[in-house]
Amino acid sequence: MGVQGSGKGTQAALLCRDLDLVHLSVGDLFRWHVQQHTKIGAQVRRTMAAGELVDDDLVESVVNERLQIHDWNYGFVVDGFPRNARQAEFFLESYDIDSVILLVLPDEEVAHRVLSRRLCSGCGLDYNLMFHRPEVPDRCDVCGAPLVAREDDNPEALQARLRDYHDKTEPVIALFRRKEYVVELDAMHSADDIQIELREHLQLPAYVPTSATPG
Ligand code: AMP
Repeated sequence: MGVQGSGKGTQAALLCRDLDLVHLSVGDLFRWHVQQHTKIGAQVRRTMAAGELVDDDLVESVVNERLQIHDWNYGFVVDGFPRNARQAEFFLESYDIDSVILLVLPDEEVAHRVLSRRLCSGCGLDYNLMFHRPEVPDRCDVCGAPLVAREDDNPEALQARLRDYHDKTEPVIALFRRKEYVVELDAMHSADDIQIELREHLQLPAYVPTSATPG
């Protein structure tokens, strides 16, 4: 968990890549639906572009359907969920959580991180013009497709997303804290350092940084 731009996707990808876990990003699932022009995509497109939260029933059904595939050997990392009390209840009723990873980033840092974020329009790889620039400007290093900004990475939508994070998601973190699940990490550190600390806290196999670090 963590505010927009705190590196949730990057840390989840590193954990999953090395430890054979499945990465479940609710935002990525919805973006896939929008890109593929599915019925769900049509339902969520405007809500997402405005930076608002998608309706809980729809979120629950998409998460449920994804988890029912049960395609993991050791477990999964959920990214961008739960984002409010109702989603947390739904999740805790059905699944055991080993830990909650909280990436802490001050609001002042959020805007310039998020506004310099780019996504490959071909393979979906994340870039950030501050930390992970493509070798050729505006082109993906892996597949060569153009890089684009997410539709909701604009100042107005970001304001709505930040407001929801503080009003609806932070209370969920407080609930998790009471259950002593939470590992709190400083998101101002480098992606590699955060992953190293995270593995130490969770007593997972040590992380060895490589030049292929995403994000
Ligand atoms: P993210 O990639 O996590 O920033 O999510 C992008 C957008 O997808 C959010 O701004 C919401 O519109 C929608 N979304 C993702 N996860 C959720 C969730 N758990 N509940 C409601 N809406 C969500």
